[in-house]
Amino acid sequence: MLSAAAPEQFPADIGAEVAFAGRSNAGKSTAINAITARNGLARTSKTPGRTRLLNFFELAPNQRIVDLPGYGYADVPEAERRSWVPLIEALRHRESLRGLFLIVDSRRGLTDGDARLIEWSDPSVRGVHVLLAKADKLTRNEGAQALRKAEAELGGRATVQLFSAPKKVGLEDARRVLMAWLLASTDAQ
Ligand code: GDP
Repeated sequence: MLSAAAPEQFPADIGAEVAFAGRSNAGKSTAINAITARNGLARTSKTPGRTRLLNFFELAPNQRIVDLPGYGYADVPEAERRSWVPLIEALRHRESLRGLFLIVDSRRGLTDGDARLIEWSDPSVRGVHVLLAKADKLTRNEGAQALRKAEAELGGRATVQLFSAPKKVGLEDARRVLMAWLLASTDAQ
C-alpha cells in the first residue's frame, strides 16, 4: 500500500487502476474489503480530520485500486479542501485510471457530491460503476425502487447495481466489473 499526500508521491502511471469514492459512511471501505476479499485493506474506522490521503493498493503487479477520502461532511477545513483538489485532479489525468466505483448508501440515494464526482471522473472517457450499498437494509421492493431511481438519475452515464457486503448481494457482479477494467487495460499494454 502507498499513501500519497501529493501527486509526486503517486506510483508510476503504468498498468491499470480503479478508484473507489463515496460520501463518508456510505460503505466504501467495507465494499473495498469485500470485493477484493482482503479484510483490513481499507480501514473502516475513521479519525475525523485526519489528513486526506489517496491510498493506492496493489492487487497484482500493475493492477491497483485507489481509495479516495470520503466526502460530504460540510466541516472539512478549507486548507484540507485546497490540498485535496490538486490531488484528485492529478489522479484524473492518469493514463492508468480505468474507472470509478462510486459507493452510495442505498437508503440515501445519489447526492450532489456524487453527481460532481461522476462529472469529475469524465464518464465519456472511463467507466463509472455505482454500488447502492447496504442493500440489506432495504426490502426487495425498496431495493428495486432505489435501483430504478438511480438508473433514471444517472441517465446512462454510469452502470449501477445493488450491493451488500454482509449479505453478499451483488458481490460477484461488482468483482466482474472491477476485474474487467483492471485486466482490459493490462492486456492492451
Ligand atoms: P465508509 O466511510 O464509506 O468507508 O463506510 P464504512 O465501510 O466504514 O461503513 C460505514 C458503516 O456502515 C459501518 O458501520 C459499516 O459496518 C456499515 N456498513 C457498510 N456496508 C454495509 C452493508 O452493506 N450493510 C450493512 N448493514 N452495513 C454496512
